[in-house]
Amino acid sequence: MKRKKLEYIRFLIDMGESLIPIPIENKNADKTMASETPMKKSDGGKIAPTISESAKPENDAKSAADKESLLDEFYQQIKNCTKCPLHRSRNKFVFGAGSADADIMFIGEAPGGDEDRTGIPFVGRAGKLLDRILAAAGLKRREIYIANVLKCRPPKNRDPLPAEEEMCLPYLHRQIEIIQPKIICCLGRVAAHALLHTKANMSDMRGILYKFREIPMIVTYHPAALLRSDKYKRPTWEDFQFMLEELEKIKRSA
Ligand code: SF4
Repeated sequence: MKRKKLEYIRFLIDMGESLIPIPIENKNADKTMASETPMKKSDGGKIAPTISESAKPENDAKSAADKESLLDEFYQQIKNCTKCPLHRSRNKFVFGAGSADADIMFIGEAPGGDEDRTGIPFVGRAGKLLDRILAAAGLKRREIYIANVLKCRPPKNRDPLPAEEEMCLPYLHRQIEIIQPKIICCLGRVAAHALLHTKANMSDMRGILYKFREIPMIVTYHPAALLRSDKYKRPTWEDFQFMLEELEKIKRSA
């Protein structure tokens, strides 16, 4: 346990923390037990997570180069999308970024102001914090892939509307299908709700290994939540540990 505390302190330092809180024992540590299939919580069944999208995706991408060219082709097909009203106010369409052959795919909610200006996901304050979290977890941004549920910015960064999600989600599904990551990490409530078809609280969705079209998937806080409150740092660190442990298991069993 001492080692875990030291790792957590190192994580906070890597994230740029100057005042290091003393880590407390996590009463819900047993929640981080993983299963090969989605698990229901044992605390009275507050949520019964939907096993999302059980159909296996078509795996038409054989190599990194194939995936790269399929992603590029797909980007060209959808970059001028006008399926929902958000196209009218967008500056840039934000497709996704990173390695087409990534082991880990992170999924956020929608572009914000900085993303809308640049066309790149997670480049604002939350994106910079995500970079630090990735570095603290030993991950490089160029090795992972990041995309959002919506490709265009909702006005004033409001939550996506159900109709917008319905229009845009097939694009994300196709990206997942092409990349075929070994594990997916939903960043925040909106992405988790969109992929799991649930309205559960974040605290109830964490620490559970789901499967999305046969791909293991976990849920953690959006980096913007960590900017709002320090209390999300410890659980985020735990979720990243959980994800990396699961990824190791997947690689070992491959
Ligand atoms: S949010 Fe998605 S569905 Fe709506 S216009 Fe943009 S790309 Fe098309």
